[in-house]
Amino acid sequence: MKSSTPIFLRVAVASPLPRHFDYLPPKNTDAGALMPGMRLRVPFGKREVIGVLLETAAHSDVPAPKLKHAQAVLDKATLIPPDLLALARWAADYYHYPIGEVVSTLLPPALRMGKPGTGADRFVWRLTAAGAAAEVSALKRAPKQAALLRVLVQYPVGLDAKSLDGKFAHWQTPMRALRRRGWVEKIPVLPQTPPAFPMAAGVALNKAQAEAAQEIRAALGSFRAFLLDGVTGSGKTEVYLEVMAECLRRGSQALMLVPEIGLTPQLLLRVRRRFADAVVFHSALSEGERLAAWDAARSGRAPVVIGTRSAVFLPLKHPGLIVVDEEHDASFKQQDGFRYSARDLAVVRAARHKIPLVLGSATPSLESLYNSAQSRYLHLSLPERAGAARHPAIQLLDIRGQPLHEGLSDPMLTAIRRHLQAEGQVLLFLNRRGYAPTVMCHACGATLQCRRCDARLTLHTDRQLQCHHCGTQRPLPARCEHCGAGELGYFGFGTERIERVLAELFPNVGIARLDRDSTRRKGKLEALLDGVQRGDYQILVGTQMLAKGHDFPNVTLVGILDADQGLFGVDFRASERMAQLIMQVAGRAGRAERPGEVLVQTHHPEHPLLNRLVREGYASFAAAALAERRAAGLPPFAAMALLHAQAVTRAAPMAFLEAARRELAPACGRQVQLLGPAPAPMERRAGRFRAQLLLLAAQRALLQQALTTALPALYALKQARRVRWSLDVDPAETF
Ligand code: ADP
Ligand code: ZN
Repeated sequence: MKSSTPIFLRVAVASPLPRHFDYLPPKNTDAGALMPGMRLRVPFGKREVIGVLLETAAHSDVPAPKLKHAQAVLDKATLIPPDLLALARWAADYYHYPIGEVVSTLLPPALRMGKPGTGADRFVWRLTAAGAAAEVSALKRAPKQAALLRVLVQYPVGLDAKSLDGKFAHWQTPMRALRRRGWVEKIPVLPQTPPAFPMAAGVALNKAQAEAAQEIRAALGSFRAFLLDGVTGSGKTEVYLEVMAECLRRGSQALMLVPEIGLTPQLLLRVRRRFADAVVFHSALSEGERLAAWDAARSGRAPVVIGTRSAVFLPLKHPGLIVVDEEHDASFKQQDGFRYSARDLAVVRAARHKIPLVLGSATPSLESLYNSAQSRYLHLSLPERAGAARHPAIQLLDIRGQPLHEGLSDPMLTAIRRHLQAEGQVLLFLNRRGYAPTVMCHACGATLQCRRCDARLTLHTDRQLQCHHCGTQRPLPARCEHCGAGELGYFGFGTERIERVLAELFPNVGIARLDRDSTRRKGKLEALLDGVQRGDYQILVGTQMLAKGHDFPNVTLVGILDADQGLFGVDFRASERMAQLIMQVAGRAGRAERPGEVLVQTHHPEHPLLNRLVREGYASFAAAALAERRAAGLPPFAAMALLHAQAVTRAAPMAFLEAARRELAPACGRQVQLLGPAPAPMERRAGRFRAQLLLLAAQRALLQQALTTALPALYALKQARRVRWSLDVDPAETF
């Protein structure tokens, strides 16, 4: 029986406007068959776009003559499950971001463009369990096969022909050989029968691990958040794997989120050795691979999904557990567009699914430590390293007034020699890539500046100047651009300069440099890491790329060349980030049976937070840092939001933010502080001037209320037309 009351469709359409759009059902369609989460093709302005049905309603505020019919329904069944759609709506409210944009980030690009929701009959090639366990060294005589194997190891979900074409020229012949060995299988993207979720046995857990695993296991089937706090090497990953296995035994899926840089081949191999059918999801996958992974998660065929930030939005048929590894990592927060925190959304999502959530870290964020102290999370600790040497002692090297050989102090050089002689590997950390961060004219003192940013240019070994903020490159000029003298000098150190100095000091020692420049080409990072494992390199120099995920069992000395960078940063989180980085890098020392040593060069050996960190450890540092935050009324003791604006003129962002402040002030009252507007510390970046307005409130609800009340007016401001503006709720960076 057809009812005569009209039905209106509330549709999410990707658009900068923070609302949904109403349509009438497509003509000749049974409106009763329309379900939330289906895609629709709708007219939008002069275009046709793909939208997602949020809900149907019996009324619409849009006057009848203006309402248009949707043109077509693209899905026969719900594509985005209701729980995920509800999470999207929650996130759109919380981050004050347009629902259409949020929903569209949920969909892989192929689905966003209207392609069919289930994969066509395509094939992927992927490693078998035997292939995953195979030693590449067995293929010495077959270098093509070995190289192909190295590629396949990175893609546990498999690669289709199109992606293979893009990654490996003439892959067909070596692939056939690998299949003959039984190391590779060719399978349809959509298996005909549900898999049996094969898994291998794990290691026997030690007492602390077993207790932690037991607590989490007992929570399966209900919501509970855990903070798994344990030094690098304490066996957190084994705890995750154990609990994930139990989750699978109960027929549920486990989702594991890792930082961008943490999704290393080593970790993938470990997960895949345990769960052969684990599926990987990250932004570097091809369109087809992303769709396949999305579909595997949604259909329940993927027992385990491991992915970076955006994987928090993967649909799951039978959600059972969410793990967030290295929960303190800044890459969980998206820094542009839809500025969500995948870690925070994971907490919300777990609560909505009524499943447990594990946040793991050796250096938990102050937010998570505070949540544990408030009993919102259960704090589980793994105090000891598992099956390895003790956590290394950290020592500060006071380099004030000391002679430095190109950034390296005498005690540091002595220690490097000592460890090399004892056949240990040495890791040197400097969070600055390039050769020298400053080029200055000796005649007039002018420094070479980026023309588009308020920043100095960094000199690289290839005599190119690079801006590390906007990417601009140009050759080093022969003369000073300011006074014309030919006396340009280079100041400060980057990884390239340290690498060169070491090569002169230690001519017979293999040196590897790991940073964004040395690993830009595909496969280069893997090749360098392989070389480190094989012992081709005794010294590693690198940026924060070294800090995460990688296992360097023979590293016995870690040298941190400049701890001062983070001590006086403009951001209120600078010291927290620095402490995390120091501890993460230090954690690379002495992972195998040999004990490690960590030396930290600093000009500020008396700095109280640095001292706490080195003498008493991260927990003590965190307690002191939290006390400072409380005294200053900063997060996690307050809720924060940041209104950004940028434009090609200096005046426009400030004018917009002044107007925004006037709109916000009445809604903020006395409970929500408005600070600014002020130009950003680096005001000009990539040719645009930037300014910001900070909102701070002791109670989050008041901040949210003020934003909800006042934001609609900002869209209507005439000053808004001259700027790009955005709101960042819980900003990870305040500059
Ligand atoms: P984390 O994730 O805390 O850094 P991992 O889980 O990676 O620690 O463990 C560090 C090392 O110790 C790994 O090589 C791992 O295989 C090993 N390991 C972990 N737990 C155990 C255990 N119970 N028995 C033996 N070795 C273990
Ligand atoms: Zn620049």
